[in-house]
Amino acid sequence: VVRATPPRFGTAHEALRTVFGYDTFRGQQQEIIERVAGGGDAVVLMPTGGGKSLCYQIPSLLREGTGVVVSPLIALMQDQVDALIAVGVRAAFLNSTQDGAARAAVERAYLGGELDILYVAPERLSSESTKRFLERGRIALFAIDEAHCVSQWGHDFRPDYLALSELADRWPDVPRIALTATATEATHRELTSRLRLEGAEHYVSDFDRPNIQYRIVPKAEPRKQLLDFITREHPGDAGIVYALSRNSVEKTAEFLSSRGLTALPYHAGLDASVRAATQSRFLREEGVIVVATIAFGMGIDKPDVRFVAHIDLPKSVEGYYQETGRAGRDGLPSTAWLAYGLQDVVQQRRMIDDSPGDLAHRRRMTQHLDAMLALCETVQCRRVNLLAYFGQNSSPCGNCDTCLTPPESWDGTIPAQKLLSTVVRLKRERNQRFGASHLIDILRGKRTARVEQYGHDALATWSIGDDLSESQWRGVARQLIAQELLKPEGEYGVLTITPASAEVLSGARPVILRTEPDRPERAARSSRS
Ligand code: ADP
Ligand code: ZN
Repeated sequence: VVRATPPRFGTAHEALRTVFGYDTFRGQQQEIIERVAGGGDAVVLMPTGGGKSLCYQIPSLLREGTGVVVSPLIALMQDQVDALIAVGVRAAFLNSTQDGAARAAVERAYLGGELDILYVAPERLSSESTKRFLERGRIALFAIDEAHCVSQWGHDFRPDYLALSELADRWPDVPRIALTATATEATHRELTSRLRLEGAEHYVSDFDRPNIQYRIVPKAEPRKQLLDFITREHPGDAGIVYALSRNSVEKTAEFLSSRGLTALPYHAGLDASVRAATQSRFLREEGVIVVATIAFGMGIDKPDVRFVAHIDLPKSVEGYYQETGRAGRDGLPSTAWLAYGLQDVVQQRRMIDDSPGDLAHRRRMTQHLDAMLALCETVQCRRVNLLAYFGQNSSPCGNCDTCLTPPESWDGTIPAQKLLSTVVRLKRERNQRFGASHLIDILRGKRTARVEQYGHDALATWSIGDDLSESQWRGVARQLIAQELLKPEGEYGVLTITPASAEVLSGARPVILRTEPDRPERAARSSRS
């Protein structure tokens, strides 16, 4: 016999108190819950930690039938379901990690009207047999979590999400709620139309996280800088350090551990059991630092993460915002610290050039990177820049590095011209494979073996730049790349000029650069590794 799960509570407040043990709703939770419980569609943009889960969990308890939650975070489904069961909600999931018997039991419970909430992986829901199975029971609502995954423009596109557009036709009477923590205006628009949520009410939260202090520093010796940052400002605190490669994750965790910190590596190359153990130590012990690739932290609910550090440049502002948002969910002061350098820019531009996607895809990645670079290079408030990216106006925050110590800018037109004209001169040579380091050696008049080999001490720009240190030159090169006056190309990151650099060379366009703290030569050189 197929039965619909009866409503468990009469009002949202009753469910909030009885099940979740909270007295008041946060932000727009109540309006959202009432909208969906009343059968309307909703699009919810709420920062990480804002409390999105209750927005679909409570309506699932108020409506007849089972709330079907689509989530890409398969690894977390078990935890989410366990947490709900612990507070008396009848929850289950369907995903590829289950065996046939477990799946059959979940299916029976759904059809028997014994499930309040059912988590389903998106690839399940795109299959016809799953949809036919769901049709046999009663659905209270569809919740589409991490809804930005449907956006091809976004940073985390998942093709399975495209199939979710069909829910509107197939279940026209079932309310749908899409939720995400990462939404620029473009993503917001795209997810609304792709998920066929034209008739939805939109709930856009304030994206500001005022307790997070944003800081971005030039990268010299990243591991040492990171250690200084942690020991000075966050001794004994829990934190997450993000790096782009597994190798860098391993080395950084080793380095921090060798200095007496509790730092554990986390990346996809490690055994699932090791990763689970790391995650549970992070949640249960105090002062654990996890050094991770981006995979770590999604859906982890740890309120007292005091810092999030990036030792490599994130690929997009959305990603950066989501990762830094894992700090300070408890509202207490926390730090988002990022070190970035010339090599990051060169490497990421190259990765985009080499990426297998089509031109449109590469263009999107370039736009994402450019927005990230603009955030790094801004001389204005970081938060103003960040929030503007999410379509929100604000005034200088007083709690970011540029507000606390306003960066100075300087007229870098002449150094830019020196560097660009060296690039132009080297371009005349065949098989040229000269990256930033060699250019800087020429400008600073440094007689290296390569300089000798190519006779570059005979160039007109030889030694005309010894007024700047090597690290200052690296800063100039990095900022020129960020401003698209210089472009790294190919496997070796050979620097080439761009259409805009001609204007600089002719003197028609001034170049304003951000003043950076100078560093010893030795430090600057080690950032090449
Ligand atoms: P998100 O999915 O938006 O990142 P969660 O739904 O995981 O956020 O909620 C973050 C934390 O806030 C959780 O610990 C949750 O229990 C808590 N929370 C949510 N709503 C409330 C509320 N109304 N009152 C108190 N705590 C809440
Ligand atoms: Zn600021």
